[in-house]
Amino acid sequence: MKTLYKNGTIITGTGDVLDPGWLLVENDTIAGVGPMTAFSQAADAKDNTKETDISGLTVMPGMIDCHVHLVMDGSPDPTAPLMTMDDATAAIRMMIHARQTLNAGFTTVRDLGCLNHVGLRVRDAINQGRISGPRILCAGQMICMTGGHGWQIGREADGPDEVCKAVRAQIKAGADVIKLMATGGICTRGVEPGHTQYSFEEMRAGIIEAHKAGIPAAAHAQGLEGVKVALAAGIDTIEHGMNLDNEAIDMMYKNQIPLIPTLAAGACIIRHGRQSGIPSFIVEKSERHRQERIQSCIHAWRAGVTIALGTDAGTPFNLHGNNAAELSELAVTGMNSHDILLSATGKAARAIGISHITGTLAPGMQADFLVLNHNPLENIQVLLEKQTFLEIHMGGKRINIDEGCDT
Ligand SMILES: [Zn+2]
Repeated sequence: MKTLYKNGTIITGTGDVLDPGWLLVENDTIAGVGPMTAFSQAADAKDNTKETDISGLTVMPGMIDCHVHLVMDGSPDPTAPLMTMDDATAAIRMMIHARQTLNAGFTTVRDLGCLNHVGLRVRDAINQGRISGPRILCAGQMICMTGGHGWQIGREADGPDEVCKAVRAQIKAGADVIKLMATGGICTRGVEPGHTQYSFEEMRAGIIEAHKAGIPAAAHAQGLEGVKVALAAGIDTIEHGMNLDNEAIDMMYKNQIPLIPTLAAGACIIRHGRQSGIPSFIVEKSERHRQERIQSCIHAWRAGVTIALGTDAGTPFNLHGNNAAELSELAVTGMNSHDILLSATGKAARAIGISHITGTLAPGMQADFLVLNHNPLENIQVLLEKQTFLEIHMGGKRINIDEGCDT
């Protein structure tokens, strides 16, 4: 079965905009794409091709969120209930949040820390077509030092040998990526984002083990020293990042290590504040480090470091399904709308190692795409509006947007 979309604005995710252009989808795969001027020879429409005229509409790749926590629900203190939560409850939560994310046009997410191995099984169920949700790259448990950031849902491991074993346990359970906590963070009481947590030797042991298995490692890394330790140890992505200096940014640029700034997380906490019930220590740390994070993101972007979209969805008031909020946060860097869309599509796919599968509209890629009634290049905010999404396709399957959960 082939479907041809023609006469619309096609944002390819590679940096091109075809206006007007065409897109040919065959089963679960993109079979062709091009400008209408080159249509007759290239598309070669055959008898079994369904044609859809999308004049006035825009097609773009399904978006990618490189950093979410599907088990967290965006409540004021979201890690607290997880300490007593059973796996069955966690699984139901993750399924609901996954569906909300897909309904918002995000066809791929990277889950960087769940409860036990629940997220891995939710991922499997989606892959098997048993439940609906985005493509999930799942880290399983985040790995942290004893009492380190995220210990409430993480696996505590100290010293290179324990870190190595913790990584192996995630790989055994089927992790797609390993998450290592290089520094303290915002949502854990008693730790500081600026403080280094894992040593070089511990980070190195974890990263080597991940790379041996052919999977990437992501570092929660905020303070400068922890960022540098992670980079020196060979990390694949820096999550958050703050007060980055020239040396850190040079290391990221030269080694092509992306920054996933997750600015929406801090913005949501500060906007809702203490009166919403967010614990005081979370608000205080967010306010104290907000500018450092924004400045680091601006500095990195200007220096040519790849910026990929990540929200840290699940943190206070940073709701699943509202992932597009990060698009407007990224505008503070001076990125234009097209640059921001690339951070959410082609560049995001490269950042997390799946650019051969999704993130762009190019022949051979999975048919993950959105049909929109507004052009986000003109106003990126339209991607926050549910009514913008006329169609959402993932792996060639059209998602029934209306049947989603709205809890
Ligand atoms: Zn996170």
